[in-house]
Amino acid sequence: MQTTHSAHTGFPARQSQGVGRVACPGCDLLLEINVLSDGSRAACPRCNHTLTRHIHDGYNKVLAYSVAGLILLVLASSYPFLSFAVAGLESEMTLINTPGALWRYGMPGIGALVATFIILLPALTLLMSGAVAAALLTGRRYTWLVPCARFIFLWQGWAMAEVFIIGVIVSLVKLATMATVVLGVSFWCYGAFTLCLIVALSNLDRYRCWEDIEAVMRDD
Ligand SMILES: [Zn+2]
Repeated sequence: MQTTHSAHTGFPARQSQGVGRVACPGCDLLLEINVLSDGSRAACPRCNHTLTRHIHDGYNKVLAYSVAGLILLVLASSYPFLSFAVAGLESEMTLINTPGALWRYGMPGIGALVATFIILLPALTLLMSGAVAAALLTGRRYTWLVPCARFIFLWQGWAMAEVFIIGVIVSLVKLATMATVVLGVSFWCYGAFTLCLIVALSNLDRYRCWEDIEAVMRDD
């Protein structure tokens, strides 16, 4: 059995109240988490893995970036993503048509994966992040709160919007030498959506979120 250590935070531990104990995701060391001051961070003394950090106005930021990101995703789905012109032939690509095009070219599996990882999972993760943040801000108990939080922390690593946008930029460098490429409104909206997704998830602290959900479910 592992020894219990206290992660340095500068505040008294809540171990006496029976809360604030967590296993380090990096090395599995069992630790006590103290109450954090604004802007401070609790790290594992053995592997320095960040366990939790206090984010000022964290849920408000998550909610704001989630709403902004979802609006941008709707705009990204409504306008052309890229258009190509080569030897008098023009072609236009939209975000929604990308998985369908792969399907038509005989790659249905890749089309389904692309739809899942660049549209479905990022959209669901952002939607649920906003919903969880709004619920925790109001302090009200909802039956979907725990399943939504589980979904976010289980699947957020598979929301690959940033991988897609970087892949598109790298492809454009090659295509620009062969064809005239025009970036559509959708491209910029999807880029901004990706930034909103990254910022929203980085402001949602896993440990703090579960602690607050537990408090909401207990109090109500
Ligand atoms: Zn550790």
